[in-house]
Amino acid sequence: MSNIFSERIIDVPKSFIREILKVAVEPDIISFAGGLPNRDLFPVSALQEASNDVFDSAGKEVLQYSNTEGYLPLREYIAQRYETKKGIKVSPENILITNGSQQGLDLLAKVFLNQGDEIIIEEPGYLGAIQAFSIYSPSFRTVQLSDEGLNIQELTGVLNTYNPKLMYTVPNFQNPSGISYAKSNREAVASLIKDKDIYLIEDDPYGELRYIGEDIISFKKILPEQTILLGSFSKVVAPSFRIGWVVAPDFIMEKLIIAKQASDLHTNYISQRILDQYLSDNDLNEHISLIKDTYNRQRKAMLNSITKYFSDEIKCTKPEGGMFLWVTLPDDIPAMEFFDLAIQNKVAFVPGDPFYINKKNTSTLRLNYSCVDEKNIEMGIKRLADTFARVIK
Ligand code: PMP
Repeated sequence: MSNIFSERIIDVPKSFIREILKVAVEPDIISFAGGLPNRDLFPVSALQEASNDVFDSAGKEVLQYSNTEGYLPLREYIAQRYETKKGIKVSPENILITNGSQQGLDLLAKVFLNQGDEIIIEEPGYLGAIQAFSIYSPSFRTVQLSDEGLNIQELTGVLNTYNPKLMYTVPNFQNPSGISYAKSNREAVASLIKDKDIYLIEDDPYGELRYIGEDIISFKKILPEQTILLGSFSKVVAPSFRIGWVVAPDFIMEKLIIAKQASDLHTNYISQRILDQYLSDNDLNEHISLIKDTYNRQRKAMLNSITKYFSDEIKCTKPEGGMFLWVTLPDDIPAMEFFDLAIQNKVAFVPGDPFYINKKNTSTLRLNYSCVDEKNIEMGIKRLADTFARVIK
């Protein structure tokens, strides 16, 4: 029976995190396993109002098919926001609205990757990207992430040895590690790939969620011709709209549009129109400030509880934004071994293994703080510390 399926799908595993989330939903479990935005911050009534306005003013129009590129005023809004927030000039013509930035990853893989083509990816890396690319059977070349960003020596070696077409990065508050690349690291990466036939995918769903420190220059600004920038409204408005985008040079846009047409003709038009209406009638910056205040309090609560309850040999990243932090246990004890015990102790996390291409039994794990209030963060971290203490002697 198995040979009725294509080779491209047979070996691609299910999302491990989605499986874990099924275990972690029981109400008495404090879950740091998810990666979801906090639902209490969704602007429900403003979106409801926007939705009513759209149906009242353009009901028939918004129920019709639309163009593949996406609703022009929404693309203009995104272009304008890049200019005012980051000083990046992009034309709406170079923006394709996608069904979440996740679809952007799939479309990029579809238009760039033949079987065996090489792609550089961070280690640890975003699971959704690993899954999206894996369907097209590339050869992954990994480069380690550390607190400053990519390991430049390792990247140099990979670039000297292999011939990658694409390089996938999440330079701001990376999922899973929370790490941001320092400015000097971005510049070093850019100078290594400059003039090479390689495109850098800058996936930036968390860039607006900076709680401390200054924004760091985008790859799109350092290396405009070679950077393909992905963005999303999932973390700053609501993920169910499934609205993200790809910013790409003209000749890549042409191919992406063909791939998008083949995939779904266009992104849900009503979603685009309601979101656009919401953005015209409300101040997104104000809404993002509210999200940042809440997540920052939760981030601090998690870091403080970790300092209070974890033993010193347990290391942890100290992100300046985003939704995650990354823990490394001592003595190479596999984090997977703690998982069942942690669930018994009524706390959940994501073991690090699925974020690596070729490594098993890693002693790392991801913690998410966006959906748990400060009191429960402290209680959950204490439960985790108790769990660790039972295994780490
Ligand atoms: N990239 C990264 C790094 C992510 O963490 C996520 C969401 N978990 C996505 C892309 C996909 O986001 P969306 O499709 O909701 O825009």
